[in-house]
Amino acid sequence: MLKATKVRLYPTTEQAAWLNRQFGATRFVYNTGLRIMSHRYRVHGQSLSARYDIKKLLPVAKRSRRYGWLREADSMALQQACLNLDHAFQRFFDPSQKAGYPRFKRKRGKQSSYHCVGVKVGDDWIKVPKLRPINAKVHRQVEGRLKSITLTRTVTGKHYASLLLDTEQVAPEPIQRVEGDKVIGLDMGLSHLAIDSTGRKIPNPRFLKQAQKNLKRKQQALSRKTKGSARRAKARLLVAKAHERVANARNDFQHKLARQIVDDNQVVIVETLKVRNMMQNARLAKHIGDASWHALTAKLDYKAKEQGKHLIRIDPWFASSRTCHVCQHKMDTMPLSARSWDCPACHTHHDRDINAALNIKHQGIVKLKAEGLSVSAHGGLRKSGMSPVAACEVGSPAR
Ligand SMILES: [Zn+2]
Repeated sequence: MLKATKVRLYPTTEQAAWLNRQFGATRFVYNTGLRIMSHRYRVHGQSLSARYDIKKLLPVAKRSRRYGWLREADSMALQQACLNLDHAFQRFFDPSQKAGYPRFKRKRGKQSSYHCVGVKVGDDWIKVPKLRPINAKVHRQVEGRLKSITLTRTVTGKHYASLLLDTEQVAPEPIQRVEGDKVIGLDMGLSHLAIDSTGRKIPNPRFLKQAQKNLKRKQQALSRKTKGSARRAKARLLVAKAHERVANARNDFQHKLARQIVDDNQVVIVETLKVRNMMQNARLAKHIGDASWHALTAKLDYKAKEQGKHLIRIDPWFASSRTCHVCQHKMDTMPLSARSWDCPACHTHHDRDINAALNIKHQGIVKLKAEGLSVSAHGGLRKSGMSPVAACEVGSPAR
């Protein structure tokens, strides 16, 4: 099983300068590769591969007088930059991902560089090629065989290392017999971060809203400063720091929440939302960005796998919000503003989100069984035993 750990680094001034050159070299390779590929295609109609054609140029460039400085950098990191560029193009050409055309890496943005040969980690240091060990704050005992180190520098100038470790343990066998009351459906919504099928409503944490207000104020201050001025540079750093605080707080909160949900259940069922569609609505986008469902789902996924548990994703065309979970009656429309409704067929009063979470749970159980898992009945399915109707619906923000 592979495990990733992130540690903070404290390089000396000299080391920070080397890292800066290292980041510069990886960025140069990525950007130059991108420039060459775009140019070749535009002018000659020729498609190059970053993985083969661009990578082959590296030794040529290193021998040249003009780009000889690339020899100073860790060569694995430069090769990885080519692979990263290749992945960016693959995402662009994959219609299911809808990724945009690869973009140039910015000098001012977050920097990173990947190292996989000659890497080591100690109690309070890490080692990458061509550099003396860098001081690090290693929180937990690092267990397993170190496979790679990815160095990063944030916009605010903090250095980190992501250690990828092979724990040499086999991942636990996926649970085959699921207890019905250990299955939870999550409706990730706008009014709350998530609402589960037990009726628990997890609100968006307030500290995020406060941090957001702070961020907005600093962004406005930045926009008032003259371009290229020292004051603007200072204001930009303040904005970056505020951004970093929001990201850290959100990440921390999501980790704790995901840990608790996975510990308490065997199966977690979520709906894959068409976030991209919803993002087109600017007002919703802010809330969605804040809730960042994708990131939470990813955390739920790997934490579940670590324990042999399941994360089930349900297709968004399933009309979770407008189907009555008791009698399966499907409403034609359900505006986003309707927080509760009465089923005209069985007269059950529904909380919009709890009803959706229950539908998601039932739909997930159907999917689990289709995959050959057994789900014990208690607390699991409705008494009627009717299988939920997977109603077909054209994707719309109202779901
Ligand atoms: Zn009903």
